[in-house]
Amino acid sequence: MIKVITFDLDDTLWEVTPVLIRAERRVLEWLEQHCPELSQRFSIQAMRAMRMELVKSRPDLVHQISEARRFIMQTAMERAGTNSTRAASLSRQAMEVFLQARHEVELFDAVEEVIAELHSSYTLGVLTNGNADIYRLPLGRYFSFSYSAEALNSSKPLPLHFEKTLEKTGASAAQIVHVGDHIEHDIEAAQGFGWHTIWMNRKGRENISGIKPSATVGAIDQVPAAVHHIDAQLQSAADQ
Ligand SMILES: [Mg+2]
Repeated sequence: MIKVITFDLDDTLWEVTPVLIRAERRVLEWLEQHCPELSQRFSIQAMRAMRMELVKSRPDLVHQISEARRFIMQTAMERAGTNSTRAASLSRQAMEVFLQARHEVELFDAVEEVIAELHSSYTLGVLTNGNADIYRLPLGRYFSFSYSAEALNSSKPLPLHFEKTLEKTGASAAQIVHVGDHIEHDIEAAQGFGWHTIWMNRKGRENISGIKPSATVGAIDQVPAAVHHIDAQLQSAADQ
């Protein structure tokens, strides 16, 4: 019997690219107003190059995506001549502007209804590599737990998200289904732990990976039927 369903967030419950583009634009506007020396000193291209250089310089921040972004802003400001106390403070405020926009997500059709329905029969959790926090959204009330890359200092497909879920729920691997859009980070990784998987393939991409999800869906409203199907197969295997 399936007891637990975990969900990836970005590109599984909402589309992430427009959210990130808007969040970055809003931070740039904020910086132009509050730290004009930065945009006067560096072009957007120069900022991008600096970002690449700084990301490489801090491998310790690989899972800390918000802190990495903040650190890059602080360093860029310092290089533009802002003193470091002010740069630290401004970069924290700019990060808040980013995170505010990061949570202005538009849920895919039927997400709220389907999650509410599944919540009545299953324990629901979130396993994300991104910096959206489900508990900052109304949808968060349906989720019993959420593991992010930042909280665990680890990202899928590394084992920690999956190990923590097993520990938290007390469920066995065969009682869990993970739903996600990324064939390696979500599907292959969860299968590696013996979990069932539902691949969210909204754009009907061809699966050339050789990885076989337990089920593939094109939209979230197909998830309840897919879970029931997995359950039915488990039941018939147990009956034989
Ligand atoms: Mg995703």
